[in-house]
Amino acid sequence: MPEKRCKSWDKYAASSELAPLTKKLVDFLSTNKTEREIVRSTEAQLRTLDAKSVEEIKNATAGEIVYLNWKNRAIAVARLGTQSLKDGVNAIISHGDAPRIDIKERPLYEKDQLAFFDGHYYGGIKKYQWVNIPLALHGEVHNEKGHTSAIVVGEKSDEPLFTIPDLAIHVDSEMGKRTAKEAVEGENLDALVGSANSERNSEDNEHLNIESLKKLLNSQWGLEETSLASADLSFVPAGSARELGFDRSLIGSYALDDHICVAASWFAFLEADKSPKRTIVHMIMDKEEIGSDGISGADGALFETFLLELLRLQNLPTDPLTLRRAIARTTAISADVTAGRNPLYEASYVRDQQPLCGNGVVIMKSSGSGGKYEASEARGEMMSAVIALLNTADVPWQVGSFGRIDKAGGGTLAKYIARLGADIIDIGPALLSMHSPLEIASKTDFLALKECYRVFFNGMNSV
Ligand SMILES: [Zn+2]
Repeated sequence: MPEKRCKSWDKYAASSELAPLTKKLVDFLSTNKTEREIVRSTEAQLRTLDAKSVEEIKNATAGEIVYLNWKNRAIAVARLGTQSLKDGVNAIISHGDAPRIDIKERPLYEKDQLAFFDGHYYGGIKKYQWVNIPLALHGEVHNEKGHTSAIVVGEKSDEPLFTIPDLAIHVDSEMGKRTAKEAVEGENLDALVGSANSERNSEDNEHLNIESLKKLLNSQWGLEETSLASADLSFVPAGSARELGFDRSLIGSYALDDHICVAASWFAFLEADKSPKRTIVHMIMDKEEIGSDGISGADGALFETFLLELLRLQNLPTDPLTLRRAIARTTAISADVTAGRNPLYEASYVRDQQPLCGNGVVIMKSSGSGGKYEASEARGEMMSAVIALLNTADVPWQVGSFGRIDKAGGGTLAKYIARLGADIIDIGPALLSMHSPLEIASKTDFLALKECYRVFFNGMNSV
């Protein structure tokens, strides 16, 4: 079957859906910057839809929406189908975490009358891209009584910003001797959070008295020194997502990887059939950027636990064999972005193997690096079924691979779902500047992506 090279811009530029959908995307990206914020806002919206947590109910009927908030870091949402769960589900699995600068457990320190939060970068970044840019602090603080409060500082124009100061070029003549990787050291990714103040002890030039800063953190921002040790706090690029380019054809935003897929999957879920044949699942994982490990990653227990809950809600057996069979009949999309061709760096690509920004959703048969190590390779049967579905619905798509062999690579969460027995394939948009503070995507690719996910929810079957 020949690849369809229909550009998404050609197909959707005049669509009346483009402007309102772009606005929804920009709002989503601007207000959901961490996995915790995504889980919170998704659950809040689910409540308005009268959805029930699987933990609250004994059974559910076709058409109902149920969900599982997994540790406040990941979430799974399903609309139950008329068909038995034994026949599997159509799942779209994205991830809510994104590269950022986490703060360490004992963050606050001072030097030369300047106060810093000690940072630890999270995910794969080019460290030099994260200095001298406006940063905001996002996260949650948990007190000893078990109460959690959300914190955002630096997004509103009347709130203070933060930044990681780089070394001035005037004192960095040795700069040329360092490789790009060494340009900024990981230990130097500390954010400036204050400076000398009136309560400074003038006797002690070496040690700025930051007690007053601690008091301010507590009184104004609710950050006690002891609760900083357990807080989930990160610095992320401050500001809203924006249209990009004179023609406004692109979107520039922090965390398009992978919030553009989270948003597309969520909007598609809400638009999909209200009484589907197969149960549809919108699932947002955490920790993809650091290998999908841990309690909230795809290598954790959420996927199987949620399917067991769905079997129980349909009064079906929840033994291992029934679960395994349901998973074996499940079809899934690993909803993640991929690197589009950047024409400024021709040498990094091979002929026409690289997906193009604005050329439709990218179906990635396999990921990994080198000799396909760490790859999850979709079965050809799965890929051709997906292509048939997209062709029938006239959704622009393209295929592609990661850069030059042995020089590029990347993985997604697909392999952790694949090893349980589900057919899964990577589908997402092609981005420019992946993992930088300002990632870039085509607006019309987003419309193609939402359509692709909606068609998959509605029309996919076991292969
Ligand atoms: Zn990703």
